[in-house]
Amino acid sequence: MYRQFSPNPRSLLIGSFALWLLANGQILLAHEGHQAATYEVTPAAAQIEQGKYLRLKVVDAESSRPTAARFTLTVNGKEYIPPNVARHGLRFISIHQRREQQFIATYARGSGDVLVPLPNDARSATVTVAKGFEFVPVTASFDINGPSATVEVQMERWINLQAEGWHAADEHLHYERTDPKHDGDWLTMLDADGLSHAHFLVLRGGNLPGIWAQQFAYGKAGEANDGKRSIRPGEEYRDSSQGHVNLLGVEKVISPISTGGIGEPRVPFNYPPLLDVFRRMHELGGIGGPAHGASLARSSTAALDTVLGQVDFFEIANTHLYKTDAWYQLLNCGFIIPPVAGTDLPNFGFRDPWQPLLGEVRTYVRSGARSGFDAWKQAVRRGEVFVTSGPVIHVDVDGVGPGGVVRLPPQGGDLTITAELASPRPLKTLEVVSMGQPISVEVKRTHTGGVHRLHVKQQMAITKSCWLAARGTGGPKTAVEHGLGIQQDVMAHTGVVQVLVGNQPIRSEVEVERLRKQLALQQEHYRTQANYEEPEHRLRFVDLFEQAIKRLD
Ligand SMILES: [Zn+2]
Repeated sequence: MYRQFSPNPRSLLIGSFALWLLANGQILLAHEGHQAATYEVTPAAAQIEQGKYLRLKVVDAESSRPTAARFTLTVNGKEYIPPNVARHGLRFISIHQRREQQFIATYARGSGDVLVPLPNDARSATVTVAKGFEFVPVTASFDINGPSATVEVQMERWINLQAEGWHAADEHLHYERTDPKHDGDWLTMLDADGLSHAHFLVLRGGNLPGIWAQQFAYGKAGEANDGKRSIRPGEEYRDSSQGHVNLLGVEKVISPISTGGIGEPRVPFNYPPLLDVFRRMHELGGIGGPAHGASLARSSTAALDTVLGQVDFFEIANTHLYKTDAWYQLLNCGFIIPPVAGTDLPNFGFRDPWQPLLGEVRTYVRSGARSGFDAWKQAVRRGEVFVTSGPVIHVDVDGVGPGGVVRLPPQGGDLTITAELASPRPLKTLEVVSMGQPISVEVKRTHTGGVHRLHVKQQMAITKSCWLAARGTGGPKTAVEHGLGIQQDVMAHTGVVQVLVGNQPIRSEVEVERLRKQLALQQEHYRTQANYEEPEHRLRFVDLFEQAIKRLD
């Protein structure tokens, strides 16, 4: 399933040829394929019944209706990727050219039986069907005795988070959407991977030399929305020194998208400051924050931009990465911002059969009955979020959840902390974190009705203002490890609950002192190491760091 490939112009030509034939009506297909540099959707097969095939029925257990889901196959004990699927299926190829990563995902569209061609020597097979994180993944084994086999898979929910007002989003995708007529396929994939929202971010350089992952329009005009799911275009803006930032939902692309030598045409300078980019993003209706846990930067300005008030969230996880130190440091200094997570596809498109392709790591926000970008944005702003690559996580402090504030009298008081991590898949740890450190708690482990649960309910005496959150882990992502050599356990982390004692702010003086020193070192870096076109640009950075250091007093 996980193949390295060499970018081959011929394969793109063959794709174009198939489309050309389609356009001329010489092949009768129910669904055209489509493709761009970052993906291909294989044209639907017309006459699968001529050879051996599988008739796959994927049904929602509650409604008995067909439902969209991802499926994977083994045939005669080996992984099998069909060359195509018929019209009720969707075969998607995720392509990262520079890293030479390619991953093929097959989906049931939820519109009827999916016909899947099987090899002529197929005798026995398995199919695994998964639909995001709220349905139990199902594996069914079957024999192929005649020309075809029929398998029905019932998809059963073990939890319904949407009924509790939680909506899932992948806030970090980089695929082209150059023609709105293909949005139906994207929305089907969101449905099949259990997502309500996706943010498709344009980029410049890296995977491809110029501007890529372009969208047919930006802001509201570039949205896809079927009433249940939505896609909103945005931008990942990058500077080699300052780092990468996700600008979600902006009405326009903020140029030059990349600075500091990333991409072509090359902008060698580390200017403008990302602070200015964030300000412009806010003018353009967007919401943003540092990507990749503030890594992938020579001297990340995530702290600077947060202290100066322009950061709305902190991305702490991608498929290949889970990094909380920079975020915790800012929280400990009193800058209370929510976490988000997203895949960074087509980077690291390696998946186990139970995992979704889109939203392998995702952000749940509590926006109640409301959906769409504005509701999503407001819920992130309130901090009503958790992130996960599998387990569902919950925390409350005296009944107050992430984004909320618990107030205690000046002498402090006792609080009850409840936390839970749950999944149909095995779990490792559940921790309650206070000011970045796990506190000592008793964790109860249960496994009933096919669901693993780790549970904490504990009284805690609090005398100092602090933030509290829950975090947990489960089993390893084996495909990511085999494909990339990167070890990642599935993870979940809640947003934070603030506990305010009297009028004390949430603030660790030790951490503030450490941040002050870090900002002073960074000020020196930007005075002596960064690349500027004009002397005043250097002075601007020096001044911004000066302002941030003062802001810590
Ligand atoms: Zn990035």
